[in-house]
Amino acid sequence: MQIQDLMSDIRRNAIKRMDKKSPAELSASWSSEDLLHSGIGNAIFIILPTPGCAHALSESGGCTMCSYIADSPLENVSSSQLIDIFKNLMEKHEIKPKTVVKIFVSGSFLNEKELPKEARDEILKILNKEENIEEIVVESRPEFVTEEIIKNCCDLLPDKIFEISIGLESSSDYIKEYKINKGFLNEDFKRAINIIKNLKSNYKITSKAYLFVKPILTSEKEAIEDAVASAKYAEKIGVDRISFCPATIHKGTLMEILWRRGSYQPPWIWSILEIIKKVRSEVKIPVIMDTSGFGTRRGPFNCKKCNKKFKNLIIESNLKQTIPEEFKCECKDKWIADVEFSNITRSTTALKN
Ligand SMILES: [Zn+2]
Repeated sequence: MQIQDLMSDIRRNAIKRMDKKSPAELSASWSSEDLLHSGIGNAIFIILPTPGCAHALSESGGCTMCSYIADSPLENVSSSQLIDIFKNLMEKHEIKPKTVVKIFVSGSFLNEKELPKEARDEILKILNKEENIEEIVVESRPEFVTEEIIKNCCDLLPDKIFEISIGLESSSDYIKEYKINKGFLNEDFKRAINIIKNLKSNYKITSKAYLFVKPILTSEKEAIEDAVASAKYAEKIGVDRISFCPATIHKGTLMEILWRRGSYQPPWIWSILEIIKKVRSEVKIPVIMDTSGFGTRRGPFNCKKCNKKFKNLIIESNLKQTIPEEFKCECKDKWIADVEFSNITRSTTALKN
């Protein structure tokens, strides 16, 4: 069976099990402290109920770790409805000085089949009027990044930084193809980054790469090595910022199936610390480590004694871009054994080949 067929099956089952929710119920917003290009400020997060990621809805079946399709209404929501939902969500938040607004559509903001141009334009116009907003961050797959669309967006935001975040996940095409089912390769990502780079002389446009920590079928050691190599690659080709997403187990994914069978575990928080140490000393662009799901049953873990402490240290280190001060915990030895064990299994496989 091809991974695409398997993923399509899993996706169809997940969609069948979904509760029908209204577009307003599927929308969400929250705010928190965040690191902007100009320093520490405030972020407003907005989730809009668009029909869902084109890749997840296609024959490919989508990515092995992602369940965002379950948060999508799977039907078209009209532009006026989307604009109303957006306005209502924004009204819930005070727009403090130095604010970044991050808009998530559980897919591609730049794909007009997911977010109609009419709604996109109106949302950007609303944001442009707010003086305290410095940056607008959106997400897109690389195939929807075109010069025309970027120009179109930036023309509506003459005074703001517009950032396109793209889920590269890994700089290894092998991992993207066989462990994530990402549906694009480094050359596609690079093409999108080049478009953004070429428009920098005329617009305040920046790029961000999302990197995924520990895809399925990856050992603890490989996960660390891949994360570090991917960050170096992103910097080398001209990405402006990096955001790491350590794996958490989403419902209705191939990752969940493997986890339930004992064939997958999310990364150790020790591994995450190792990645931060290496990347913050070897890569010069800002690097954010997402900590959602840390210390939960489905997320990155160490032990009950240190999960929370490390999570807080990492959140703080994101704002300051420092390497978190490490403290001792007895669980570290188990992590070391895990990393070394993956070393042994790898060298035995090498012997067999
Ligand atoms: Zn511990």
